[in-house]
Amino acid sequence: MKIGVIGGGAAGFFAAIHSAENNPDAEVHIIEKTSKVLGKVKISGGGRCNVTNVIFQPVQLSKHYPRGEKFLKKAFGHFNSQDTVKWFEDRGVKIKAEEDGRMFPDTDDSQTIIDCLMNEVRRLGINLRYSTNVKSLTSLEDESIGLEIEDNQEVFQKVIVCTGGQPKIDGFNWLKSLGHKIENPVPSLFTFKINHKPLTSLMGLSVPNAKIRVIGEKKLQEEGPLLITHWGISGPVVLRTSAWGARILSDKNYQFSILVSWLNDYTEEELRQYVYEQKEVLKKKQIKNKNPFQLPQRLWDYCLQRIEVPETKLWLDLSKKELNKLINFLLSDQYDVVGQTKFKEEFVTCGGVSLTDIDVKTMESKKVKNLHFAGEIMDVDGITGGFNFQAAWTTGFIASK
Ligand SMILES: Cc1cc2nc3c(=O)[nH]c(=O)nc-3n(C[C@H](O)[C@H](O)[C@H](O)COP(=O)(O)OP(=O)(O)OC[C@H]3O[C@@H](n4cnc5c(N)ncnc54)[C@H](O)[C@@H]3O)c2cc1C
Repeated sequence: MKIGVIGGGAAGFFAAIHSAENNPDAEVHIIEKTSKVLGKVKISGGGRCNVTNVIFQPVQLSKHYPRGEKFLKKAFGHFNSQDTVKWFEDRGVKIKAEEDGRMFPDTDDSQTIIDCLMNEVRRLGINLRYSTNVKSLTSLEDESIGLEIEDNQEVFQKVIVCTGGQPKIDGFNWLKSLGHKIENPVPSLFTFKINHKPLTSLMGLSVPNAKIRVIGEKKLQEEGPLLITHWGISGPVVLRTSAWGARILSDKNYQFSILVSWLNDYTEEELRQYVYEQKEVLKKKQIKNKNPFQLPQRLWDYCLQRIEVPETKLWLDLSKKELNKLINFLLSDQYDVVGQTKFKEEFVTCGGVSLTDIDVKTMESKKVKNLHFAGEIMDVDGITGGFNFQAAWTTGFIASK
């Protein structure tokens, strides 16, 4: 039997390795169009590769996928994040967890993951073919699959497509022409561009627990660390908002308004009470010098500018209107987002081959026999935290069966 795995990324390697293990007599090929394999693994997690997450339980784990939750809940029953950790540790790669749940090789170097996968490919005698583009795919009469590879036709008994996310719908034409439904690809995991100099001049500043609400989209609100950048805002809370809102925000052409809560630990009621208490406690202190919210001083200075309170004013002298403005800044600071950017960040594609055309037990296409899918080519994507690689490992593992 000849098995063709198209694409030399995380999903392709995992699918090929398990295919070779499950079928020792098969000839397994990884066919990669560029001169490099595992390119995204290399740059992932800032060069450290966030391989998976400490959330092991399939139901909980699947909740981290804006697209594919139900599908993956079933898939994780076969191979979950705990299996990923075990798989790498069985091969000598120790995996450590960080406080926020992300898991990395304990070398903090993505090359460790690459070396492990490459060693397996060598050990199993998998045929790794670089700079080889698969142009099209045909289902043949005997249900084998013909691949147009560069200018030749080659026949495989089983094919697993692992070509990753594609930015444009044209990238899916070869699969669409075989009857697969394609969910329009749009970016996910992007950061927000905000043209407001006083804010962007605070670049590098972060707050540990912010909240973002997209105005007019009640359900679109996320919490977590926020980072101010030279183009706007970034950090886990922004990436999460972009992931859950990938389609909505694309439909808005990335022009929308948000409310930022800089202090997400308080309800409005609690904050109001606290602010009035502090007014009494701090009475004679100048507002600039006394920030009772543990906000970074630069953010506090910015706050006072934004609510137009003179720095030298005493807490005691703050009017009701000024206190309201302060509460409003802390909980509902409004900005216009004028675009999205993927600068140096993890990004993935929302959309791809529709899950309605894929059998979750085998990852086999419901349109073409012996054709399987794994990884980001499918309409599956997660928030940041190792969830995207986990989807690649899981679907690659199942497809290989
Ligand atoms: C900068 C960055 C950092 C990231 N960091 C993380 C992280 O730390 N943790 C995490 O979970 N996720 C991370 N992600 C997301 C993660 O990398 C992807 O979800 C994952 O790599 C998808 O794997 P894949 O195998 O499906 O696709 P890919 O990794 O995209 O691999 C697809 C491969 O197929 C090849 N190919 C495409 N078309 C053809 C063709 N016609 N013929 C032959 N070959 C073809 C491509 O060249 C490519 O090598 C990051 C993404 C980016 C961009």
